[in-house]
Amino acid sequence: MSTTSNTLLEIDGAMGEGGGQVLRTALALSLCTGTPFCINNIRAGRKKPGLRRQHLTAVRAARDISGAQIEGDEVGSMTLRFVPGCVQAGHYYFSVGTAGSTTLVLQTILYPLLLANGESHLTLEGGTHNPFAPPFDFIAHAFLPIINLLGPQVSAKLDRYGFFPNGGGQLQIHITPTSQLNGISLMARGKMISRQAKALITGIPDHVALRELQRVADQLSWAKDCLHHCPLPPAQGPGNVLLLEVQSEQVTEIFTGFAQRGIRAEAVADRTIKKLTDYLGVNVAVGEYLADQLLLPLALAGEGEYTTLAPSRHTLTHIEVIRAFLPVSITTTEMRKGVWEIRVKSSSL
Ligand code: AMP
Repeated sequence: MSTTSNTLLEIDGAMGEGGGQVLRTALALSLCTGTPFCINNIRAGRKKPGLRRQHLTAVRAARDISGAQIEGDEVGSMTLRFVPGCVQAGHYYFSVGTAGSTTLVLQTILYPLLLANGESHLTLEGGTHNPFAPPFDFIAHAFLPIINLLGPQVSAKLDRYGFFPNGGGQLQIHITPTSQLNGISLMARGKMISRQAKALITGIPDHVALRELQRVADQLSWAKDCLHHCPLPPAQGPGNVLLLEVQSEQVTEIFTGFAQRGIRAEAVADRTIKKLTDYLGVNVAVGEYLADQLLLPLALAGEGEYTTLAPSRHTLTHIEVIRAFLPVSITTTEMRKGVWEIRVKSSSL
């Protein structure tokens, strides 16, 4: 798939919002294009900059699936040199070793494996429901169905939940690759087909989940059969997450709220409801997080478009990183008040 070039691309990890996405996208695109790169100022915009366990696991996973040569792979390192090898499909197991997010490790190695020489199976251990990362449910029900529209077939299975701080979760991903990703056009989400609220809970008093669901019922007038109280095995906690899922004709979106010490269950629910109502209040296809996560696959496909809310700083940063690796034009245009269109087109098309 990729031919290794000799030029070392220099990436400034402090660009834009200076988070982990700069590193993960650089790793993914390095593997997909065969471009070696060096990144400085890794996660300079974060409170604890440099590589954390989760990023290190992503770096080593990128190495292991391709036989890459790396320098700087240590916790706290702010510089990394990465020379990719040839991506090999296969069975891989990666453990973060902390509650760090497994889904962000997936974000790094998914794309090269989508375009690899055969089927792959990943077992990833660590956190499965982390703040500031896609929860497993989002990956399985919102993100992967869109990825599958692009040509590959990817399925996800959750073996064990993993919450911060204990981790210990596990998920499995099976990938049937494609030789070329297709573009997609998601200009509207279509009619709502179903909606549900799930309150996952373990090791925290049950009334927390019940109060979150009650708040959803009160604020959104959702019927009882849309509300699911989901007690989990005690060994997989403690943890509590509220997930609001809306399935529309074209897209499924999921909005997540994490319990926080000192924050009332009602406040956690209110924040999550606000994210949902902001999305439902305008006729856009995808919300803030899908908007940044679809950029990379569409850039690899060479074309695609979707409507979304005002692009986040994260999305704008992600666009910059992608442009550093691929000859692609990505435009963000406000079409009507609050409705933005993101259009991706390969400059070589
Ligand atoms: P970074 O902050 O740079 O490590 O990137 C975080 C990644 O997690 C981005 O791809 C976000 O889209 C994604 N993300 C963060 N929170 C959520 C959420 N609640 N649901 C789905 N994706 C999320």
